[in-house]
Amino acid sequence: MDNKCKQNTTQSPTKEFIPLSVPELKGNEWKYVKECLDTNWVSSAGSFVERFEKNVAQFLGRSQAVACINGTAALHIALLVSGISLNEEVIMPALTFVAPANTILYTGAKPVFIDIDPETWQIDPQKIKDFITKECLWQDSKLINRKTKRIVRAILPVHLLGHPVDMDSILNIAKKFNLIVIADATESLGALYKEQKVGALADISCLSFNGNKIITSGGGGMLVTDNKVLADKAKYLSTQAKDDSLEYIHNEIGYNYRLTNIQAAMGFAQMESLDDFVTKKRTIAKCYSENLKDIKGISFMKEATWAKSNFWLYTILVNPDEYGIDSRSLLNKLKIANIQTRPLWCPLHNLKPFKDSYAYHIEKANKIYQKGLTLPSSVGLTDSQQERVIEAILENKN
Ligand SMILES: *Cc1c(COP(=O)(O)O)cnc(C)c1O
Repeated sequence: MDNKCKQNTTQSPTKEFIPLSVPELKGNEWKYVKECLDTNWVSSAGSFVERFEKNVAQFLGRSQAVACINGTAALHIALLVSGISLNEEVIMPALTFVAPANTILYTGAKPVFIDIDPETWQIDPQKIKDFITKECLWQDSKLINRKTKRIVRAILPVHLLGHPVDMDSILNIAKKFNLIVIADATESLGALYKEQKVGALADISCLSFNGNKIITSGGGGMLVTDNKVLADKAKYLSTQAKDDSLEYIHNEIGYNYRLTNIQAAMGFAQMESLDDFVTKKRTIAKCYSENLKDIKGISFMKEATWAKSNFWLYTILVNPDEYGIDSRSLLNKLKIANIQTRPLWCPLHNLKPFKDSYAYHIEKANKIYQKGLTLPSSVGLTDSQQERVIEAILENKN
């Protein structure tokens, strides 16, 4: 080894990379996936699909579950079976990952973006009420957006970052104005809203088993409901809308959205660890909160008294006036320390595909987005890794 090389290693020892969020696959994943391969049941027929569906439905206390190829597909199908169509509108939060908003566009409908509550960062039910009372007309049992002239058909609350939405308020508004509720629970499986599981409420709830979600099937999603008619329709549409499988008769536009048995086997195994994963995520969150709470300029999401978050991805807010540098500068400093962090999602009303969608006085979402920084939150995060993250945040304060 030459001198230069040696010097490099002593001067800047490479610290182990700490990723933002990686899966934890230490249970029966291998065993069940192997079972699929050994028995030749690898595609969407096969017992794990049904077992996974039953398992999730039972966990959430729902009578129906339909597994889909991913969470986005589950949301798309949920909107389709709810009859959402061209030139209608769906109320949703401005701050979230883009997928639910895209699925609204897939149906020909448009999102209406609503601001978030600054404490919990979830869609603010009061702002939904304001939008309805100040901007809409109630005519022939239909809610009409006065500016766009479109019919408002549904609310799509997103349980953001593991924390539940205030569902009682959402369900009350929906009941009063004849709106369908489709909940995006993709980030919050295992969380509780007033002792009830997130995903147990709403007309339809959608889940994701993407690699970075609390449990993963490699890729996957599911919609759950108590309405058998909707569930049957969802299964029909997600398997090519086959009316006669011998003669290939299709009376509707179908989709190839069904989950495979291999993926379901993995998801089924992950379900066995869900409770442990939630406990671990909550321990990680508690440790971050306790160690970061006294740093000037650092704050985080408040867990509402009625909520038990799964703390999917732990996120801090960086106030540059007090902390000394802003969230993006901190991101870069942590990157140099080999620690992966990430900003929140750019509020959707600022994105090109939604330029002609209606946004109702968005203010808080922009602020949380500017200040937000998501910290390493893997279930497998070790104490020493977490100490390194905390130390780095302490060190970089100016
Ligand atoms: C992950 C996610 C989705 C989409 O799930 P995929 O399985 O990745 O398609 C939808 N909505 C939100 C809020 C998400 O975080």
